[in-house]
Amino acid sequence: MSIALTNACDLACSYCYAPKHRAVLNLDSLLGWVDDLDRAGALGVGFGGGEPTLYKHLPEVCTYVAEHTGLAITMTTHGLRWNAALVSRLRGAVNFVRVSVDGTGSTYERLRGRSFERLRKALQEIAGDFRWGINTVVNEDTVGDLDAIASLGEEYGATELLLLPQQPTKTAGGVDQTTLRELENWILGYSGPVTLTTSGDADLGVPIAEVLPREVGLRSYAHIDATGTVRTSSYSRSGISIEQDGVMAALQRLARLEAR
Ligand code: SF4
Repeated sequence: MSIALTNACDLACSYCYAPKHRAVLNLDSLLGWVDDLDRAGALGVGFGGGEPTLYKHLPEVCTYVAEHTGLAITMTTHGLRWNAALVSRLRGAVNFVRVSVDGTGSTYERLRGRSFERLRKALQEIAGDFRWGINTVVNEDTVGDLDAIASLGEEYGATELLLLPQQPTKTAGGVDQTTLRELENWILGYSGPVTLTTSGDADLGVPIAEVLPREVGLRSYAHIDATGTVRTSSYSRSGISIEQDGVMAALQRLARLEAR
């Protein structure tokens, strides 16, 4: 289950698909939902946002999930707020950190509006204590940097490079076909040590291994946004609000809605 803890973010990437209205999850509701998910046999929760490190209860939520459930915790973050203090509060609780890196050097700085050296310092903090991987939104600006991004991952011991062809948003279009073909060629030519992965909705013409092929639809993945609405994905326009009867009941209502 992917969970957007907050819509807040201190960056303003042009291709960001996170909703821009203010929303943040209530701590007690969130802890109830992770208990529900654990009892229902979910494998893990992926915290994101917005930027999850701006959620003030992040360390206590991660500690609670690690101590009271069998759920694995992953987190998707821009990485720039990770420092020794945050690392010490999340160490031992978070199983995998996904850092968004769209381009290196000047490409990164242009797209993210932050210094690349600062990202390197953050990667040093993260890589010392967590298994981690890179998330890259692939578009015509970033596809040429894939070699450098993979090298950066290798340098800091990333185990995964998640390639996300850009989805259309209200302010930016989706990835174009030429860039998609370039991405496919890059994937087929990559022979480095970092495992390449992609999202379920990426339409790539390359062979892809399904990790859990019999887990499909809402059994394989669902998203809770920062207003407490379950959706089939963070891009999906329709969703079901989680009420007093809990997250599993909301998922059942969503499944019925999707089946119509
Ligand atoms: S860092 Fe992520 S959440 Fe923040 S603006 Fe950029 S894409 Fe959106």
